[in-house]
Amino acid sequence: MKYEVKNGWKDAADGLKDAVFAFSEGYVDFLNNGKTERECVSEAVRLAGEAGFRPLTEVKELKTGDKVYAVNKNKGIALMVIGKRSMTDGVSIVGSHIDSPRLDLKQNPLYEADEMAFLKTHYYGGIKKYQWTAIPLAIHGVIVKADGSTVKVTVGDEGDDVTFTITDLLPHLGNSQMAKPAHSFIEAENLNLLIGSLPAAEGEDGKKVKEAVMALLGEKYGIDEEDFTSAELEVVPAFRAKDLGFDRSLIGAYGHDDRVCSYPNLRALLDAETPEYTALCLLTDKEEVGSMGNTGAKSRFLELTLLEALEKTGAGAGVLNLDRTLDRSLCLSADVSAAYDPNFASVYEKNNSGRLNCGIAISKYTGSRGKGGSNDAPAELMARVRAIFNEAGVLWHTAELGKVDEGGGGTIAQFVANLGVDTIDCGVPMLSMHAPFEVAAKMDVYQCYRAFSAFYARKQ
Ligand code: MN
Ligand code: MN
Repeated sequence: MKYEVKNGWKDAADGLKDAVFAFSEGYVDFLNNGKTERECVSEAVRLAGEAGFRPLTEVKELKTGDKVYAVNKNKGIALMVIGKRSMTDGVSIVGSHIDSPRLDLKQNPLYEADEMAFLKTHYYGGIKKYQWTAIPLAIHGVIVKADGSTVKVTVGDEGDDVTFTITDLLPHLGNSQMAKPAHSFIEAENLNLLIGSLPAAEGEDGKKVKEAVMALLGEKYGIDEEDFTSAELEVVPAFRAKDLGFDRSLIGAYGHDDRVCSYPNLRALLDAETPEYTALCLLTDKEEVGSMGNTGAKSRFLELTLLEALEKTGAGAGVLNLDRTLDRSLCLSADVSAAYDPNFASVYEKNNSGRLNCGIAISKYTGSRGKGGSNDAPAELMARVRAIFNEAGVLWHTAELGKVDEGGGGTIAQFVANLGVDTIDCGVPMLSMHAPFEVAAKMDVYQCYRAFSAFYARKQ
């Protein structure tokens, strides 16, 4: 068969546009309700509850068709539908991440400078720092007080009564700034969020604005300054996700990477009929900083969840059983790819690029230079995956992340593969990846959903 990268709108079947556009509405809601990993987990739990899933911890026994989920420290989640076969025959895993590049507040963030109050930030993940100035920003996250109670914070979004920003220099005074290389013309320590300018009536000069803001925060959230030290507050773009283009074929949003794979993944699992092989949707944290820690893909969460499920299905929770299960499992590491951008054509190799509207992009390998840091998926797995997609009529193509030696990137694939699981990367091709406002095509989001659904339903 001829290998063809096909635009999904070419000769589109009747009703396809309606299906594609309808699916994207649920995705836009998911984006607007989930701007942080914690919010995505809450949203996943809510949707899972509606679909009849129960917490794995509350279930004593698991049988074919049972639907369960396990939450990992409020920042990750695994959802499963128990299949007809024993879990030791292998599981179908689709793993994607729900953390996105952003600015985190420092632990001692609040200060006053020249009668303005600011919050200091520390950026998270790979950002172009200049893209985060002079745009409306919101604060999302949690403040955990010393008594253990948690205050949720969501403020500054489009439509709310206030917003925040990081200032930039006016062009009139920008001569020396504009002569600097782009990675340093906005310094990380200048990414300070402007949050107020009204001084308190009384107090120490030079601290009156800070004190007035702290008093407002005390009223609104019941917190004092020390409470910032045990907070996780994320500065994220204030914009809502919305249709992009006169034809509404695209979605512009913060956090597509990697909610654009996570939502189709979640939806495919929630909608799955009882599968042959147990289906497992894994939504993980910390991918943007290397998948470290007990909520990243390098953690033991996946193994521990599988062990608990193995025990509850009666297959037995021995280490050998776990190893067999992992060894026989397949994983789609679902993450975004770079879509070919004609405005930056020189960094792409056209024959092997992700393409907008051409469906899910499969990457046999990622990494940089000579495939460094890559999980190079076996040809046998690539063959199985394309057979599954072809049989289901899923639109797919293959993609590398730009030209060789132009840069590169990694995903969670290698960490899942390290457990013995045959793993391959695939996902939505994206424009402006890691920018505060990223662009994805509705066609590709929908094809991801169809691809993951077909994978979860695989017969062999
Ligand atoms: Mn990603
Ligand atoms: Mn990323």
